[in-house]
Amino acid sequence: MEKKHVTCVFCDQCCHVSVETENGLIKAIHPYNPAVPAICSKVQLWDSYVNHPDRVVKPLKNVGERGEPKWQEITWERALDEISEKLKSISANYGSTSVAISAMPINLQSGAGLVRRFANLIGTPNYITPMELCVGNTAQVHRTTYGWYTAPVYEKSDCIVLFGQNRSLENWPQDYLGIMAAHQRGAKLIMVDPRKNELGEKADYHLPIRYGTDAALLLGWLNVIIEEALYDQEFVQTKTVGFEQLAERVKDYPPERVAEITGLDAELIRETARVYANSERAVIPWGVVTDMQKNSTSALRCQCILRAICGFIGKSEMVVGPGTGVLSVSELEMHDALSEDIKAKQLGTENYPLFTYKGASLFKDASIETFGYPHYNIADGSCMAHPPTLFEAMRTGRPYPVKAILVLGNNTLLSFANQKGILEAFLNQELVVAYENFLTPTAQLADYVLPGDMWLERPALGPAIEVRPILTTSQQVLAPRGECKNIYDVLKGLAERLGLAEYFPWANVEAFYDWRLAPLDLTWEQASQKPAIPLKPATDGSRFGTPSGKVELYSSVLEQLGYDPLPYFREPDDPTLAEEYPLIVFVGLREPTFYNTCLRQIPELRKRIPEPLLLMHPEDMEKYGLKEGEWVWVETPTGKLQIIVKADSVQPPGTIRIPHGWWKPEKPQGLKNHLSDAML
Ligand code: SF4
Repeated sequence: MEKKHVTCVFCDQCCHVSVETENGLIKAIHPYNPAVPAICSKVQLWDSYVNHPDRVVKPLKNVGERGEPKWQEITWERALDEISEKLKSISANYGSTSVAISAMPINLQSGAGLVRRFANLIGTPNYITPMELCVGNTAQVHRTTYGWYTAPVYEKSDCIVLFGQNRSLENWPQDYLGIMAAHQRGAKLIMVDPRKNELGEKADYHLPIRYGTDAALLLGWLNVIIEEALYDQEFVQTKTVGFEQLAERVKDYPPERVAEITGLDAELIRETARVYANSERAVIPWGVVTDMQKNSTSALRCQCILRAICGFIGKSEMVVGPGTGVLSVSELEMHDALSEDIKAKQLGTENYPLFTYKGASLFKDASIETFGYPHYNIADGSCMAHPPTLFEAMRTGRPYPVKAILVLGNNTLLSFANQKGILEAFLNQELVVAYENFLTPTAQLADYVLPGDMWLERPALGPAIEVRPILTTSQQVLAPRGECKNIYDVLKGLAERLGLAEYFPWANVEAFYDWRLAPLDLTWEQASQKPAIPLKPATDGSRFGTPSGKVELYSSVLEQLGYDPLPYFREPDDPTLAEEYPLIVFVGLREPTFYNTCLRQIPELRKRIPEPLLLMHPEDMEKYGLKEGEWVWVETPTGKLQIIVKADSVQPPGTIRIPHGWWKPEKPQGLKNHLSDAML
C-alpha cells in the first residue's frame, strides 16, 4: 500500500487529500489530516469521472460545420500542426490581438501561469478567465486598498462575518470546519443573508438583508464604528491614508437611513457593528455573493476598510504579500513580453480599466518597492481583458477583430452572462480549440478538442491561487487516461511550432518544476515529498503594496482611473421594471452538488439533482397558482427559460432563485440539440 498527497480540484476549495494505492490502483481517499474530516463526498466519485465512458481521451477534429457533432480522431502531432498553422495565419491576417485565450486556473492548477506565459509570448493581451466573476474582482479591489489579497485565519478569530456563504461539509468543508471550530470556542458568528440558511440557523446574529444592499450595511457599520471611535486609532494614524475623507463620506449612512435601505433594524446594525469592531480578532472571509451584485466594488472596499481600521490586518486577516525564494507566478508569466502598445489594446481597457493592464500598471512601482519585483497578477485574476468586451469583438469585429479562441479547462459559454451573445461570438470564429476532459457545450463548438489530464493524473506545484507565501505540491497518482496530456506538453508543442521553443525548454512538467525549485536547492522529487513548502514573505507588513505604501481608505488608483475613490451605495432595483416584472431573480445559485458547470456527467451526483430547479417561496407559488414540480417560464428583459419550480420557505417572498451552469451531458450534442440542453 502506498500513500500520496494530492490536491483535489473537483471544486475551488482545493482540499489536500491522502490517496491510498495498491499496485497503481486507488484503494481509498481520505482527508489529508485524519483528525479533520475536511473533504466532501464528491471526491469519492473520482472513478465515475476519470473512467467515464464519455471522457475525451484522444484528440478530436470536427469535420462538420461549427456546432455540428461530426468528430474524427486525429493524432496529437497533426492536431498541433494544424492549430499552430491556423494561429499563424490568423495572427498574420488580423494581428496578434485577434487570438483570445480563456483559461481556468483552478482546473489547470500550476499550468495557469504557463498559459499566461504562452499568451504573452504570442502577443495577445486578450486573456480571460471565469475568475473575473469570482475572487478575481475581489482581488483587484483588495489591491486598491492594501496592495494584496487578504486571507482569513479562523483559528485566530473571535468574530466571523459571512455574507451569503452557506458553508457545509459538502460546500467548502475546510472553511466550514474552521468556522464551526471557532464558533464552538466562542467566536461570534454574524450571518448577512436574505435567506436564513443552515449556517444562519447556527449564527449569533442573522441579518436578513434586502438583496444587493450589502454596501449600505457596511457603510452603516463604518458610520457607527467611526462615530463611536471603535476603530484602532494607532493603526489608522500610522498605516492608512484618507481617514478624514472616509469619515466624511460615511456620515451619509447613519443606521436609520441604512435600515430603510436594507430592511434591517437600526439597532441590530449598531449592535453588530460594535460586536465586529470590539472583537480582538475578526474576519470577513471572501464569498462569491459579494462579488456578484451591483454594489460589489463598494461592498468589497468597505470590507477591506473595516478589516484595516479595526486593526485586524496581520492579526486574523493576513495581508503579507507573496513569498520569495522561487520565481513568482507573476514573473513566470512574462507580462513584459507584451509591448506597452499591445497592452493598451487589451479589450476593456477603456471602460473597465481596473482589471486590465492599465489598472495593474498603477501598482507596478509600488509592488517593486514592496515586494522587490513587479507583481502583476494578483490572485490569478488581474491584467485581463473584460469578457463581455472580448465577446463583442469576437461577434462584431469591433473595436478590432478577434478570430481565434483557445478555451483551456473551462466551459466559457456557460460561465459568463449572455449565453446567446457568447454563442454568436464563437460562431464567428475561424478557430476554436478546447482543451477539455469532456465534450462540454463550449467544446461542442470547437474545431479541435484536445484531451486534458485531470488532477489525479498530474503532478502540480503551487497553489491554484497564489495569495499566501507557500508552495503546495500535489503528487501524480494515475497515468493520464488514453492520450490525455498535461497542459505543459500542449503549450510546449504549440510553442515549438510557433518559433517559441526557447521559452518552453523543459523536457516535461517535472523538469519545469525542477527549474522553478532550483533557487530553493530542491528538485521536484524532493519537494513533492511534502504537501507544502513555506516561503519567506516578501514583506513584513510595514509597507503595503499601494502607491502610498499605506492602506488606502481613499484609493489613489480608483481616483486616477476616474472612479469614486471612496465607497458608496447605488440602488439595485430599477423601479421602472417592477410592474411588468414583479419578481426579483437571484441569478447564479451555486449548487454544491456540482462545481459550476462541471461534474454534471457523474450519475451519482445527477441523482441528487436531476434537473435545474427554480426556488420560490410557497406564498408566491400560491399567488401565481403554481404547483411543486411544475415547469414554468421565467422571463426577464433580456431572455427567458423554462425550469421546474420548487417550494423553498427560506426564499424571501417576491424573489426567486435560478441555478448556475446547467447542461445535460447525457443529452445529444450539437447546436441542433441546444448543445446538450445548455441553451435553455
Ligand atoms: S470540497 Fe470536495 S470537491 Fe471540493 S476540493 Fe474539497 S474534496 Fe474536492
